[in-house]
Amino acid sequence: MAFKRNNAIPKEIFFDGKMNIIWKDGVHTVYDYWELRTSCPCASCVDEFTGEKILDDSTVEKNVHPVESAYIGNYALEILWSDGHDTGIYTFRKLRTGYPHETLTVN
Ligand SMILES: [Zn+2]
Repeated sequence: MAFKRNNAIPKEIFFDGKMNIIWKDGVHTVYDYWELRTSCPCASCVDEFTGEKILDDSTVEKNVHPVESAYIGNYALEILWSDGHDTGIYTFRKLRTGYPHETLTVN
């Protein structure tokens, strides 16, 4: 597999109006809260069989933000959102390449 698994490990995650991840290899990615919330991969937001999105983005408030977050093992991040939604598990692998994000600096 071409993907380097070791790169998909965060060194630091912080929240400053957006979610920031500094990866072990120095890459810094930034995620808009609303975009991340509406990209939630859980079974009540996305049909787990068809992959079709169930969540209606317009029902998510623009000021949605994380209230709490926790690592799940060394492969994912669980986020409790201000709208009470807490079933989304964001894998580091998908955070690195799949969810909408901006890359700030690459060392
Ligand atoms: Zn969800």
